[in-house]
Amino acid sequence: MTASDIDFPTDRHGWAELLPARQTRPPLETDHRAAWAVIGAGLTGLACARRLAALCPDGEILLLDAREVGQGASGRNSGFAVAVSHFPGGYSAKERHNYARVNRINKAGLNLLNDQILEHGISCQWSAAGFHHGAADHWAANECGHFKRYLEAMEIAHTLLDGEAMAARLGTHHYRAGIHVHDGALLQPAALVRGLADSLPANVRLFERSPVLALETGRPIRLRLHNAMVATDKVVLATNYEAGKLGYLRRRILGSTLSGSFTRRLSGDERADLGELDQWGLLSLHGGGATVRLTMDGRLSLRNTAEYRAAALLTGRQLAQRQVRHRAAFQARFPALQHVPFEYGWSGVEGISRNETNYFGRQDNGVYFAGGYNGSGVTRGTAFGTALADYAAGGQSSLIGDCLASAPGQWIPPRPFLDIAAALAIRARFKDVGRDR
Ligand SMILES: Cc1cc2nc3c(=O)[nH]c(=O)nc-3n(C[C@H](O)[C@H](O)[C@H](O)COP(=O)(O)OP(=O)(O)OC[C@H]3O[C@@H](n4cnc5c(N)ncnc54)[C@H](O)[C@@H]3O)c2cc1C
Repeated sequence: MTASDIDFPTDRHGWAELLPARQTRPPLETDHRAAWAVIGAGLTGLACARRLAALCPDGEILLLDAREVGQGASGRNSGFAVAVSHFPGGYSAKERHNYARVNRINKAGLNLLNDQILEHGISCQWSAAGFHHGAADHWAANECGHFKRYLEAMEIAHTLLDGEAMAARLGTHHYRAGIHVHDGALLQPAALVRGLADSLPANVRLFERSPVLALETGRPIRLRLHNAMVATDKVVLATNYEAGKLGYLRRRILGSTLSGSFTRRLSGDERADLGELDQWGLLSLHGGGATVRLTMDGRLSLRNTAEYRAAALLTGRQLAQRQVRHRAAFQARFPALQHVPFEYGWSGVEGISRNETNYFGRQDNGVYFAGGYNGSGVTRGTAFGTALADYAAGGQSSLIGDCLASAPGQWIPPRPFLDIAAALAIRARFKDVGRDR
């Protein structure tokens, strides 16, 4: 299986463009022999390479990314580091072990990120004060009751909020109810991954703009790049939904394209009218609802589209069309800020599986993979990447056990059935979304 250049598109519409320019690492242009190669420098690959470096202090870990660090999903997400997952539908006692397992993985990732940010002084607008889950319309309000029962049954710290309390905190009367989950963090995703990449241990060699075009198993395993060959004993695929380009999990993971917008920075007066929190994040209790943030640097950000576009980013024209939807949702929530323009729009592609599972483990002789996460990969990717390093190096831990217990992924049909199934899945995602969009 051979990928080509065209298979790794990128653009200048991510969260990275809100940051000062960064010196990228040059591409790999000479042949190389390494004990370990990690393909993909998103949160999974960065965590995996960091952990491998600690496990093999005398060995070299090669970390290769097709794009610049921060241009994959890990640098383009909405910046919610989730500790407590929301499982839609009523609380089910027989799922209790599964809820606890997933939340242990989330928490492990959150703690790892927190420690790395502190240790390396990574400046990424990290704020570990949890975040809000909101309901504007009937369906989500009903789901709010389900979520409350789950949080109570699992003894997870939270605060219930009515519409007035939501408005007092967030400065919008749009929500009729909400829940603040105390654990979890908000962050600037591109700043986080850049900070993680720029603080890797000395025995990790990172090469950016270095797509791996082919992977041949054998002893050693060979990776073909444009101008270089890599021979390695073990490979970690941290490529998420792009694993199929190298011949793995082709019918198990897809890319779903999401988009959002940011306002310019609000003025002091505009912020003062917004409510008592000087920054916040809100996840909708409806799976098709808008994700909204007031960022630490004073921008409102809103993401509310999701679609199947064969894992492509949106073109400038498509993004402008989606911004009409972002704008309508923004104006419904912040009518007093109608004069505030969007300064910027972004799209990103997240890895999804049919049954919302994650992938972890060995794929082939010497080839390991972790990914999936269905829109919740900031903490989970960090935990999976770390655990995968331990697993591939022959270790054992309770975190490995939790990751290995992920349900097997369901088969995804080829086109044209895929197009029909994707259209139905998107329609189901937005069913009854109402005012939560
Ligand atoms: C718009 C959006 C909002 C989201 N919001 C949230 C959120 O708020 N919270 C949350 O937890 N999750 C969120 N997610 C999901 C989260 O971003 C992802 O689950 C997570 O970033 C996945 O990390 P990863 O390292 O596995 O994959 P990626 O970040 O996709 O990294 C994979 C890397 O592999 C590289 N690669 C692929 N193939 C090759 C190859 N052949 N050779 C070399 N390099 C290769 C790619 O360039 C890429 O950098 C969101 C996603 C999107 C798109």
